[in-house]
Amino acid sequence: MQSYKRIDVDEIRRSFPIQSFLQIRGVNVRRSGGGYLCRCHLGGHDDKHPSFSIKGDRWVCWSHPGGEMKGDIIDLIMIMYGDNFVDAVKRLRGGML
Ligand SMILES: [Zn+2]
Repeated sequence: MQSYKRIDVDEIRRSFPIQSFLQIRGVNVRRSGGGYLCRCHLGGHDDKHPSFSIKGDRWVCWSHPGGEMKGDIIDLIMIMYGDNFVDAVKRLRGGML
């Protein structure tokens, strides 16, 4: 059994670039400024004008209904799959994406 008691969040952020994760899922991600931009895939809005921005290992959706949403790759997995933090880390490491 692997232990997840000590989770190296920085290592996970480095290992799973947000733009790569989205591209693999078929999201049309394009370069914008020093980062990336795409349509929000978190649901809740149509997002015809892309408002999901990626800079480094952080993302933000500035026009999400109910208020801006942001985070890192782990937050993204938690929202998309309804996982808690530990399950999101397990999902990433186990390739269950
Ligand atoms: Zn959004």
